[in-house]
Amino acid sequence: MFDMKPSDKLSDHFRIDVPHQKALKRLRIETVEELLYHLPARYEDISDVQAVEGLQKDQEAIVYGQLSGLKARKAWTTKRPIAEGYIEDGSAKIKIMWFNQPYLAKMYTDGMYVKVVGKVTGSEGKLYIANPEVEKLDSLPIDRHDSIFKGTDAEMDDTIYPIYRESKGVTSKWLYHTTLKCFEKNILDTMQDPIPTEILKKYNLPELHTALVWIHSPKKAEHAESARKRFAFEEVFYIQIQKALERAQVSAATTYKFKTEKDHLKAFTERFPFELTKSQNKSISEILKDFGGNHAMSRLLEGDVGSGKTAVAASTAYAVATSRPPEGAKDENATKVKDLAFGNLQVAYMAPTEILAKQHFESFIEYFHHLPIQIGLITGSGCMKFPSKVDPTKPTKVSRAQLLKWVKNGEVPILIGTHALIYKSVEFKHLAYVIIDEQHRFGTNQRKQLAKKDERMPHLLSMTATPIPRTLALTIYGDLDITLLDEMPSGRKPIITELVGPGQQKKMYDHVRSELESGRQAYVICPRIEEPDPDKATALRLKSVNAEAARLKKDVFQEFSIGILHGKMKPAEKDAMMLKFEKHEIDVLVATSVVEVGVNVPNATNIIIEGAERFGLSQLHQLRGRVIRSNHQAYCFAVTDSKSEKTRERLKALKTAKNGFELAEHDLTFRGSGELYGAKQSGLTDLGMEAIKNLKLVEAARNEARDLVANHPNLKNDFPLIAHKVTHTGEALHME
Ligand code: ADP
Ligand code: MG
Repeated sequence: MFDMKPSDKLSDHFRIDVPHQKALKRLRIETVEELLYHLPARYEDISDVQAVEGLQKDQEAIVYGQLSGLKARKAWTTKRPIAEGYIEDGSAKIKIMWFNQPYLAKMYTDGMYVKVVGKVTGSEGKLYIANPEVEKLDSLPIDRHDSIFKGTDAEMDDTIYPIYRESKGVTSKWLYHTTLKCFEKNILDTMQDPIPTEILKKYNLPELHTALVWIHSPKKAEHAESARKRFAFEEVFYIQIQKALERAQVSAATTYKFKTEKDHLKAFTERFPFELTKSQNKSISEILKDFGGNHAMSRLLEGDVGSGKTAVAASTAYAVATSRPPEGAKDENATKVKDLAFGNLQVAYMAPTEILAKQHFESFIEYFHHLPIQIGLITGSGCMKFPSKVDPTKPTKVSRAQLLKWVKNGEVPILIGTHALIYKSVEFKHLAYVIIDEQHRFGTNQRKQLAKKDERMPHLLSMTATPIPRTLALTIYGDLDITLLDEMPSGRKPIITELVGPGQQKKMYDHVRSELESGRQAYVICPRIEEPDPDKATALRLKSVNAEAARLKKDVFQEFSIGILHGKMKPAEKDAMMLKFEKHEIDVLVATSVVEVGVNVPNATNIIIEGAERFGLSQLHQLRGRVIRSNHQAYCFAVTDSKSEKTRERLKALKTAKNGFELAEHDLTFRGSGELYGAKQSGLTDLGMEAIKNLKLVEAARNEARDLVANHPNLKNDFPLIAHKVTHTGEALHME
């Protein structure tokens, strides 16, 4: 028998057959360390559980055990159907009986582990539990001692036991017992705590050995709590270190440094048909200040839909496109330059969809048409350029090769596009500024990829209308500085939002009809595309886009034209449909949540959201953002069949919350972090997501990580364990 090390394969120490091995692999557990870091998902409190042995008549029993002898029969006298069986827990067994529910015996099988709750009846010696509630369990509560009931360990205040995430073939119980066996083999003695002791002390977190014992085998609930806090901190800490390293890498690179005079910018912004809001002005100043600094900017601009992020993007793009590259950057065409823009710094503006890229292209034409600055559009389905040589007031189609040539020689300073922007073939002459709209995963690597041969790191502005809680933003965007656009342009009427319950649709449809009659348009959002299969249809009662469009045409909006839009349509079909909607050839657009991201049709002022309870508040807020594009009064109807008071309460926040960020915080408390908007992109485990509920913890992890990276340029040397963990975290993050 050799000593156990954290990096050892589990199969070196335990007998694990092939199916078991595969099951463990699904849980990403191969090594001893991975097992120890497979932390319990939750704990079950079994303090209320009783032993079958001592059950008394009339007692409300809660017992855990195994089922046996299940059968259905008829009562002798009344002929009523009866289902019966036994539950056995190691101390004794007792009969359970259900009356008039014979199918119940078929729902459960002998040998199944269950929790049974019900009243003890019958007579002494013939006791049984009548009509119990039965909950199927994957395994019985863990035997800490011989039996869970004989645990009279004086230290044990709370009878909690860990429940692990399982996979077919690996039970929670196995995970627990194997972990304990690793402890017995003194695995802890071989493990070093990666987190510096000072940090643990400062935040009162248990060190690794204690924390591992406490999290897997807590004697008190507060021990488990404390250990979980430590591991949550650890997880967020590694992510923050990763982000801090990325940031340091960006800071180390040379960038384009240039100043923009106030008056120069004013000449651009004073032509806007509106006054910039205070927060727009502030955001622009922050960005311009970064352009003038020594390091490449990494900034996130967060603002509700309609808060005017495009104007910020355009103003700062203007500052870039009217600046020259620094002296010494060779420009072989310099002598040929006739117009101001040729050879200037360049901007790449990337949008998540073609529809949006086109809309940004059109907005930018509005903003720039009076200037000799050419704008290009590149998407999967073709390229455009503004202005056209033939008609300088219009854009024109150009070949991809031609556009790329102009971008490469610096003739086109602003290039807008989809992901097509970061293809290898796209080269810039002096790419100084990258603007990203709603792309959560855009990182240092893509930025470098865009910069290509240009050794200078472009400035980055990432824009998002996705309302996520502050803690999550600090984590996902740990490498970015955050600017909030928390103010709506004045003159906007707040959107009127109504919750529509069963039987209240008529009023809603009457209202929308009158709006359509007065020339407005409407969206109807459904949770699904096709009618789900008939079996499930009643259970789910979800409205599909196709079925709903047909129904509305037949029964509700007969005299109006109705179109459909969903994610399974081809990009060209989607674009054609959006164009029709924009041109008002269609009155009502029935869609899935694909319209969620930034589509701009100012005349659409009504939105009906079916199955509203299925969406998070932030997502509902995103959806209704589609209809606040104009100065007409906008309406949002959140339709729900749900009778749950809790659901209605949650949806009510849509009417009261001041902005998307507030709703995101609601989502965090109401729905639990697992379903949180943006959670998937975060790369966090369930435990890490728990941490997101704790602002102090997230801030602490972020500050400590930044300090550590700043004070230890050679992290690998000073903190090899952390460096190792971070490489792994980084890999996991880029895997998605
Ligand atoms: P976002 O991208 O943040 O959702 P947009 O930039 O598309 O918002 O702006 C939404 C609309 O508001 C656009 O029609 C834009 O012209 C207009 N807008 C932007 N800023 C202002 C402002 N300060 N005052 C009035 N309208 C504005
Ligand atoms: Mg936008």
